[in-house]
Amino acid sequence: MTAVVIVEDEPDIADLLSIYCRREGWQVYVASNGESGLETIRARQPDFVVLDVGLPGELNGFDVCRDLRQTSDIPVLFLTARDDEVDRVLGLELGGDDYVTKPFSPREVVARIKAVLRRGRTETGPQRLKYGTLEVDMDRMEALDEGKELTLASQEWALLQALAENQGMVLSRQQLLDLAWGVDWVGDPRTVDVHVRQLRRKLGGQLPLATIRGVGYRLG
Ligand code: CA
Repeated sequence: MTAVVIVEDEPDIADLLSIYCRREGWQVYVASNGESGLETIRARQPDFVVLDVGLPGELNGFDVCRDLRQTSDIPVLFLTARDDEVDRVLGLELGGDDYVTKPFSPREVVARIKAVLRRGRTETGPQRLKYGTLEVDMDRMEALDEGKELTLASQEWALLQALAENQGMVLSRQQLLDLAWGVDWVGDPRTVDVHVRQLRRKLGGQLPLATIRGVGYRLG
């Protein structure tokens, strides 16, 4: 599961961003100053950091990023409040990946996070799964068996993506619904069973997708 640490001292902004990030199915941790931000990032090892520039205490957002960059290349999105902060983000080699200026729309922040995460993934190569003669390229949404293309519906891709991102972990039907359908989706968790059946039918017996009785499903 994608984890995000938000370092922001204004509770309203932190709450709003948390809500939007959780809607994406992301795990969210919030810290309200630079010191606790660094601690949280080190403890949680998130996939992404949203970092307010103007923080109370010893360390501002720039200091946190500088400190972080000594040991980590985790993507950082700066939240800036003033033009001079923007100038510093752009002018200093802090190693931030992007920035947004307050006031911002939380939708935009989420879109920026997704864009940076996508960029990060292509740099490390596309996500491929290979089981026997079955090959699945998650980024290109291509599934091949012995070179023959298999067609999956978009919801089946979303489900496969959720399982693949959590390989080796058992996911409950509700977790799969949240990840693949979104937390706003309201419906019968047995929908997951229907789509799992479709995935198995289409991808054949090579997909190591186990049913965990009374709990849910596990890939790999
Ligand atoms: Ca602030």
